[in-house]
Amino acid sequence: MQTNFSLAQLADPHVAESEKILRKCVHCGFCTATCPTYVTLGNELDSPRGRIYLIKDMLENGRPADREIVTHIDRCLSCLACMTTCPSGVNYMHLVDHARAHIEETYRRPLLDRLTRAVLALVLPYPSRFRAALKLAKLGKPFIGLFEKIPALKPLVSMLRLAPASIPAASPMASPGVHAGQGAKRGRVAILTGCAQSVLDPAINDTTIALLTRLGIEVVVPEGEACCGALVHHMGREEAALASARRNVDAWTRAIENGGLDAIVITASGCGTTIKDYGFMLRLDPAYADKAARVSALAKDITEYLAVLDLPEPVRKPGTIVAYHSACSMQHGQKITRQPKELLAKAGFVVREPREGHLCCGSAGTYNILQSEISAKLRDRKVKNIEATGAEVVATGNIGCITQIASAAKLPVVHTIKLLDWAYGGPKPEGVAEDSAILAAE
Ligand code: SF4
Ligand code: SF4
Repeated sequence: MQTNFSLAQLADPHVAESEKILRKCVHCGFCTATCPTYVTLGNELDSPRGRIYLIKDMLENGRPADREIVTHIDRCLSCLACMTTCPSGVNYMHLVDHARAHIEETYRRPLLDRLTRAVLALVLPYPSRFRAALKLAKLGKPFIGLFEKIPALKPLVSMLRLAPASIPAASPMASPGVHAGQGAKRGRVAILTGCAQSVLDPAINDTTIALLTRLGIEVVVPEGEACCGALVHHMGREEAALASARRNVDAWTRAIENGGLDAIVITASGCGTTIKDYGFMLRLDPAYADKAARVSALAKDITEYLAVLDLPEPVRKPGTIVAYHSACSMQHGQKITRQPKELLAKAGFVVREPREGHLCCGSAGTYNILQSEISAKLRDRKVKNIEATGAEVVATGNIGCITQIASAAKLPVVHTIKLLDWAYGGPKPEGVAEDSAILAAE
């Protein structure tokens, strides 16, 4: 694509980066076919190519964002299906991240939108605040019917709907410290404790630590870890996202320098995509660029890490039919497609892949709160495809997808690690039927 930026504009490294991305786009439109918002809404401006034109026009003319561009960029899920499809290697992720930061700097949103976003940014990344908010949400749930009558309260209704009926207790395993591996030491990793996941389902990381330590891996929970910053990053709050990134880079650098790390293990693929991008996000900060690049290189999804370990034979071969839902951040953001399915199959599960696996479930961070109608359409489409597999359980590697799919599916939805841990000697995940389990020893 031809671009017309002035030299003065290109002196801004963010603009220069976006110009390089824009030049790679050849307008072919292949990406439209796999874009969930284009598939749902049928509007070119809600396709990757349409958004790329809008962003180009805004940046080239150096003008503030307007209502039209905000509407279409807000509808983008950042699912990155377009990046998987694009034959020209257009880095839509970095382009839309730049557009979102530009929108945040130059556009004044309506009051209620500003308030909703401010509350999300002030609550979700902080486990104690999020826990308190979920307790409040329990009190608000009986009034959903009343709130639904007021269109402006749509985000509140979505939040209340998504809030779980019960909140698990905080896990002591998430506190800073070291969990020693059993037997001969095979490795040493840090684990991201995270924010929303540690409140909604602390058992995901507990199970990960239990499985890794049984396999002889020492697991460090470093002092000073914070939310990865993805939630605010996707809202265009660049300074807040970079502050989270710096804090985590510091925490993991201390762990690297104090005992070494083979990997930084992440159990939420949405966080993994962002942490693997820290090297890019902090490239212009001389104090952090190298450290951030080292952290990004060490970041591994738990299935990516397990796939290169020489795993023993499973203790049990459950035989359960599993529908594997590949989160967008897993398949498109991190290009991890093979490992979770191969690990599940090796552990004795029968893996089925739902149709339209490339399409987002509509969770996408805070998307299911801020864009609840499109999100619900995508969720229902996803659940229909999952249920058509005839599976007994859904496995996925991202807490957002778990919450989203579980809000409409009739079958249990669990993190992949819980099924793997079960097969390798851990407890049966809650909600999963014992029936199809066949002890390997029998
Ligand atoms: S990130 Fe997803 S929703 Fe956004 S343009 Fe790309 S395919 Fe469409
Ligand atoms: S597929 Fe790639 S090159 Fe083609 S229009 Fe989409 S972003 Fe541009």
